Amino acid sequence: MEQYFKTTPTRDGYFGEYGGAMLPPPLVPHFEEIAAAYDKLSKSAEYMNDLRYIRKHFQGRPTPVSYLRNLSERCGGAQIYAKREDLNHTGAHKLNHCMAEGLLARYMGKTKLIAETGAGQHGVALATAAAYFGMECEIHMGAVDMVKEAPNVVRMQLLGATVVEVTEGAATLKEAVDSAFGSYIAQADKALFGIGSVVGPHPFPMMVRDFQKIVGIEAREQFLEMTGELPDVVAACVGGGSNAMGLFSGFIADAGVEIFGVEPLGTSPKLGDHAASLTYGQDGDIHGFHTKVLLDEEGNPAPVNTLASGLDYPGVGPEHAHLQKIGRVNYQAADDKEALAAFYDLSRYEGIIPALESAHALAFAMREAPSRPGQSILINLSGRGDKDLDYVVETYGFGND
Ligand SMILES: *Cc1c(COP(=O)(O)O)cnc(C)c1O
Repeated sequence: MEQYFKTTPTRDGYFGEYGGAMLPPPLVPHFEEIAAAYDKLSKSAEYMNDLRYIRKHFQGRPTPVSYLRNLSERCGGAQIYAKREDLNHTGAHKLNHCMAEGLLARYMGKTKLIAETGAGQHGVALATAAAYFGMECEIHMGAVDMVKEAPNVVRMQLLGATVVEVTEGAATLKEAVDSAFGSYIAQADKALFGIGSVVGPHPFPMMVRDFQKIVGIEAREQFLEMTGELPDVVAACVGGGSNAMGLFSGFIADAGVEIFGVEPLGTSPKLGDHAASLTYGQDGDIHGFHTKVLLDEEGNPAPVNTLASGLDYPGVGPEHAHLQKIGRVNYQAADDKEALAAFYDLSRYEGIIPALESAHALAFAMREAPSRPGQSILINLSGRGDKDLDYVVETYGFGND
């Protein structure tokens, strides 16, 4: 796997058989422009220096790795560690790629960032980047989501973004994607589309992975320094898959490290009850790329369900579909109940309130630890739980004991 990043993806954006760029014709030249600009900038010392400066002085990187001593003792077996992306500015890993997208936009001479958002987390991170770079920002959001995620709408507005209310169809994420793409086509000369995960047409799955690599690079070095060895297991939750690709990138070439992606099993393995695209999906196309997708009987993307709105996607980044196919990464699922138990346990026993998304990775570690005495598990704590507090406490109270 030493050569992995040199050959994956191919120049046209294929991770094995997955990925690619299926675009409406008017967008083809714009995506080619983005790919060419990124190709040049990713080799430029000036761009990398700017990115380093932003990460250190604005985002607060490096984020630490924490040893979860109390939780490890309670689980028995493996020692559990967490990479603390919850300590990144704005509270999650998403800023890693949003700041890099903003910087790319500036180098390309663009003055505006456009995107859709579901739960609002990506919108907030991109609006933060736009404010930092002094750019306009236009975020499309379903009317239904705007009501559900009102605090994030306020955040985006405070950050100076225009939030476009999308009322078509079910008025949620899918309609917001269509609306944002429509608006982008009309303004692509001056705007960059900021995709929120390792999904979408080439070059975004590759670029967003590269922007998130910092998580794995730091974590590997920090873990070695703390323990003198590499972890036996690394794990991260997988929605679109960006925080997972960030952590995994640091360990893909280490044959001795087992890697696990953790998908949301929602309330049951029945189609419609979960969002575990790699565990239960099939090969298909979604949003301009080829990957594993959850499809209904008509072959359309199926409805999905999980407690963690950031994992709510019927597809998955093409690189994960590839890593599953070649057997380098194992994908498992954790359900709402396990994630919720992990959410309460990390809060109570370690003093860290995790995002419900990240709680899926922790749930996997807690389930796996007893059967791995003498080993170590490093998870990516992709974000903090502030955004989930009200919902969890109103719906489930303060936990059982
Ligand atoms: C958005 C989000 C995720 C899911 O996105 P990926 O691209 O799968 O990483 C996970 N954790 C947190 C905290 C998020 O905000």
